[in-house]
Amino acid sequence: MTQVRSYLEITGKRITSKTMPKRKSPTTETTFNEGLEVFVPDPEQVWIPGIVKTVKGSTLLVKTALQEVTVNKKYVLLRANENYINCDYLTKLNLINSAAVLNCLDLRFQQDVIYTVGGNMLVVVNPFKELPTIYEKDVLLSYTAEKSNSLEPHIYSSARAAYNCMIQHVGKGSQIIVVSGESGAGKTVSAMYLLNYLTAVSNLQTCLENSLTGSNIEKKILESNPILEAFGNATTTRNENSSRFGKFIQLHFNRSGSMKGATISTYLLEKTRVTHHNAGECNFHIFYQILQGLKQDNNNGYSLQNLCISEDMKFRILPERPGRTAEMDSKKFQNTLQALEEVGITENQKQSIFRILFGILYLCNVEFTKGHDEECAAIKNNTQTVIGINTVSEQLGIDSKRLEQVLLHRSIHSGSKAHRSMFVKPIRMEEANSRRDCLAMLLYSKLFDWLVKFINSQFQTESGKEIIGLLDIYGFECFEQNSLEQLCINYANERLQQHFVKHFLKNLQEEYIQENIGWIYTDFSDNQSCIDNLDGIPGIFSILNEEVYLNRLIDTKMLGERIVKLTQGILGGDVQNGNLTSPARNDPLLLSNQRPVNSRSFLSKQIFSSHMKHSRQKAGPEFTVKHFAGDVTYQVSALVDKNKDNIPAELESLLLSSHFDFVKQIMDISNIDLERALEELPGKKKKTVLTKFKSSLDQLMSSLNAANVHYVRCLKPNSENTPNKFDRLYMMSQLKANGIIETVKISQQGHPARFTYRNFLQRYYMILSRKKYLSKMEPNNNHLHDTNSSLDVIMENLSQQRLDIPKKSRMSATPRKVLR
Ligand code: ATP
Ligand code: MG
Repeated sequence: MTQVRSYLEITGKRITSKTMPKRKSPTTETTFNEGLEVFVPDPEQVWIPGIVKTVKGSTLLVKTALQEVTVNKKYVLLRANENYINCDYLTKLNLINSAAVLNCLDLRFQQDVIYTVGGNMLVVVNPFKELPTIYEKDVLLSYTAEKSNSLEPHIYSSARAAYNCMIQHVGKGSQIIVVSGESGAGKTVSAMYLLNYLTAVSNLQTCLENSLTGSNIEKKILESNPILEAFGNATTTRNENSSRFGKFIQLHFNRSGSMKGATISTYLLEKTRVTHHNAGECNFHIFYQILQGLKQDNNNGYSLQNLCISEDMKFRILPERPGRTAEMDSKKFQNTLQALEEVGITENQKQSIFRILFGILYLCNVEFTKGHDEECAAIKNNTQTVIGINTVSEQLGIDSKRLEQVLLHRSIHSGSKAHRSMFVKPIRMEEANSRRDCLAMLLYSKLFDWLVKFINSQFQTESGKEIIGLLDIYGFECFEQNSLEQLCINYANERLQQHFVKHFLKNLQEEYIQENIGWIYTDFSDNQSCIDNLDGIPGIFSILNEEVYLNRLIDTKMLGERIVKLTQGILGGDVQNGNLTSPARNDPLLLSNQRPVNSRSFLSKQIFSSHMKHSRQKAGPEFTVKHFAGDVTYQVSALVDKNKDNIPAELESLLLSSHFDFVKQIMDISNIDLERALEELPGKKKKTVLTKFKSSLDQLMSSLNAANVHYVRCLKPNSENTPNKFDRLYMMSQLKANGIIETVKISQQGHPARFTYRNFLQRYYMILSRKKYLSKMEPNNNHLHDTNSSLDVIMENLSQQRLDIPKKSRMSATPRKVLR
C-alpha cells in the first residue's frame, strides 16, 4: 500500500518559512545552450523572442527577428512552447513568467478576447470599444446554465462563481466581488455587468418561485446605477466617466437565490470637484445633463422657463467637456430622469433636486471684490453676481440679505458655555470665495447623501441572509497636481491591494507551509510599508491630522519639511522630494523596464523631474509616495484645509432657514446635531477627513476579511483610452504592480480546490472504481497512470482515515486533474 509521507516524516523537520527552500530564479537553474528559445528584454516590446546563439560565461548572444543582442543571462526568460501562448486560464501556460503572461494577454486582446482567468482572479483588458455580441442576453443566459463551467472566462463567470458559492454556502459569510484597477481600467463597466448577471439570475429564480415580488427590486437596483453615475461621475483627464466616489453594493438574497433587497454604501465623494477643476477636468455629469436637457422641450413639463432660469447664462464652474455634444447630454438627462422615476423619486422631489443644482450653479457665479479696506470683502456689482444672488435665493428659498451676510461675515463665539456670546466679523475676499465654494460643496454633498439614502430606503423590502457584495471604488490615479482627494483614493487602492496580497499571496503560502504541503516560496511585493507610512504613527496622516487638532495658522513650508523629515526618519528617503518608498522593487529587470503607470509626466525621468521643478515653483512644497501602482507627487499646500473640512455653522443654519422643506430635509438635522454634540464633548478631537476615511476603509476591510472574496482585475491597455492598442510597457507595469504574475504562479503550483477530508470523500469516493475501469480500457495512457497513482495515494490514505477524519482539517486536492 502506498503511504502519503509528509515532509515532517521524511526529514524530521517541520516546514517553516526558514526551512522552506526559497524560489530560485529559473534562469540560474537553467543551462543555457545554443538553440535555446528565450525572451530578451526590449525597451518597447518589453520582451521579444530570440534564440541563443552563443554562451560565454554569463553572457549570451541572442538572435532575435531583427538583430543579435548580447545580454546577461539573468535578464533572460525561458520561452514556452508556442502551443501554449494563448490560454484562457493563465495557469495553463506551461512556463509562467512575465513574458508568457504578457504575450498571452496581448494575443487574446488582438482577437478581441478580453477575459482571461489568472489564478483566483479574472483579468479584464479594457477593449475601449463595443464588443457587440459578448454581453447579449443569450450569452448571459448561457452562463446561468448548469454546465456553464466549461464556457470561456467572462465577467459573467465571475458573477456566476459568486452566486454559486452563495447558494452552496462556500466560504465564511458573504461573497464579495472586488473590482480593482487604475482609473479608466473598466471597473464600473465590469461592476455593471456583474450586477446585470446577478439581477438576471435572481429574476430567473423569482420566476421559478412563481413570485413577482422580486422583479421590482431588481429593476430599482439597476436603475440606481445611472443616477449615481450622473451625480457621482465626471470627466477627468484619465477617464471620460470617472467615478468620483467609492461604491459598495450589498445584494441580499433569500436562501433559494432570489434578490430581496440591497444596500449601497458610498465612500468619500470628491466634493471639491463642484467648484475646482484642474486643466482638462470637468464637473459632475449631472450639471451638464440638466443644462442641456432642460433646454429641450420634451422633458415632461420641466424646462428652464419653469425654473425661471435664463437660457444663455454661462456658469463659471462648468468647464467645457471635450467630445460631448448637447444632444448627448440631453439624451443622458432623459435616462437620468427615467431612472429617478424608477427608483421612486416624486415630481416634487425632482423639481427640488433641479432647484438645488441650479442654486449651486448660480451661487458659484457670485463674485467678490475688496470692500472699503483689505480686511473685508464686498459683493461685486456686476450683472452675473446680482442675478446670481437673486436666483440662488429663489431656487433655495432663502433670504437674499441673509445669504449676503453669511457670505461676507464670519460668526465668532466667545465666553464660557453658560455665558456664550456671538458676534460677526467681516471677512477678506479670499475667505468669502472659499465660503461660497464651501456652501456649494455642502449643498451638493448633502444632495448626494440624500439620494443614496433615498435609494437605499427603496431597496429595503426584505433583508435576506445571503449577501453578495460588489465593490467598485475609484481607481488609482496621478495627475499633474495631486491633493487630499488623490491621497485618499490612492490610499484606498493600497488597502485593497494589501488585502489581496495578505489573503492570497501571503496567507495561502503560509497555509501550505503549515499543512506540510511541498511548496517553493514565491516572493511578492508587499505594500504594507507604504500603508504604514501613510496611516501609521508617525505617518503622513498623523502629521496632517495633528495640524487640524492644533488649529494654528498653516505654515506649508514647515509642514512640507516635517513630512520630508518623517520620510528620512523612517526610510532615509530622498531629502529634496521627501520620497516615501514602499514595495520592494529590487528586480533589476523590473526597474529597467518599469514605468510608473499613470501619468504622461512619468513617461520619462526627464519629463518627470521637469514637472517636479515646474510645480515646485508654482505650488510650493511637495512629496512623492511610491505607491504600488506608481509614484505620485502630492502638493502640500491645500492638504490641511481639505483635511479639516471645516463647515461653518452659519452656512448650515442658512440652509436650515430655507422655506423649502426639501432643502431642510437634505441637511439631515438629526445628523448635524449629533455630530456637533459629539464634537463638543470635552477632550474629544474633531474628526478629520482622513480619520473618517480611514475608519470607513477599516470597516470595509473587516467586511472583506469576513467574506469569501472574488477578484476582478481590470487592466488598461494604453494610457490614451484608444481601442486596438496594446501598449506592452504600460500593461507590464500594471501586471507587475498588481502582483498578477506571482498570483498566476502560486495558483498554478498550488491546489485549485480545497476540501475537508470528509467532503472530499463524499464527493469522489466513486472514482475509485471508475479509475480501475479506465486503467483497463487505456493501459497506455500515461497521464491517466500518473493521476491514478496520485489518486491511489489520496484514496488509500482517505480510506484509512475515513472514520477519524477531524472535521476541520483540510486537505488540498486537484479534482480537475483527477477527473480527466
Ligand atoms: P474610474 O476609476 O476612473 O472610475 P473605471 O475603472 O471605473 O475608472 P470605467 O468607467 O468602467 O473605468 O471604464 C472606462 C471606459 O472604458 C468606459 O467608459 C468604456 O468606454 C470603456 N470600457 C470599459 N470596460 C469596457 C468593456 N467591457 N467593453 C467596452 N468598453 C469598456
Ligand atoms: Mg469607475
